[in-house]
Amino acid sequence: MNTLPLTLPDLQPGHVWLVGAGPGDPGLISLLALQALRQADAVVYDALVDPRVLDLANPLASRHFAGKRGGKPSPRQPDISDQLIQLAGRGLRVLRLKGGDPFVFGRGAEEAMALVAAGVPFRVVPGITSGVGGLAYAGIPATSRETNSAIAFVTGHDSSGEVPDSVDWPALAKAVPVIVFYMALKHLDRIAGQLIAAGRSPEESAAVISKASTAEQRVVTATLGRIAAEAVAAAIEPPALVVVGPVVDLRKHLNWLTL
Ligand code: SAH
Repeated sequence: MNTLPLTLPDLQPGHVWLVGAGPGDPGLISLLALQALRQADAVVYDALVDPRVLDLANPLASRHFAGKRGGKPSPRQPDISDQLIQLAGRGLRVLRLKGGDPFVFGRGAEEAMALVAAGVPFRVVPGITSGVGGLAYAGIPATSRETNSAIAFVTGHDSSGEVPDSVDWPALAKAVPVIVFYMALKHLDRIAGQLIAAGRSPEESAAVISKASTAEQRVVTATLGRIAAEAVAAAIEPPALVVVGPVVDLRKHLNWLTL
């Protein structure tokens, strides 16, 4: 790093960097993320952050887990934001590390808004979101010219834990050939059913990608009509992404991870 022919900004005392840790493989983090890991005095991290990424942190940094522990409810979002504000207020260099990209279904916006309200200086370091990087590790391109000129990222449950009401299923089903669902494993049956009811063919291709870009990555492919049952039969575990659309068929040619 010290011999890099470029100068990176420093994580300053009293500042917070809101950093994406990518989907898992530590090789996918950015140079700015590595800089923050090396310079931070305090690291506040979520359950989705891969331990191999966390291992890159300065061993002297204090570590604060902000995810779910042993089935207990996760810390309240305002509590996490308060913790960031307090750590920064003590003059520490604070790294807020989130899985994937901090601004994609990661509540990074809420934390950034709290930092703004508290007057804490911060930087956002985007990460590779699992809905793109995780697909790539399953040999599924997010787009290809032959298959889709649009893609949608959709959350499989809203803040109440239900399939979100705010999704216009008929419009989504009609307009977007490739749909990537985050947090969709629990409600996969209903999600597939909604898509089929909204006009998608039960014969089109779908995939579930679990623990993408880790040693435990597993991928199940099936038709949209069968995907929920196949995921259950394969005992697929979260975190997992669900991809629906013709790009899934490219996996049979592009599954490079097993090469
Ligand atoms: N900010 C994150 C998403 C957080 S929401 C990002 O940009 O990727 C949590 C959801 O992300 C999980 O339920 C799962 O759908 C997805 N996810 C994150 N990491 C994943 C991984 N390594 N493999 C599969 N899905 C993952």
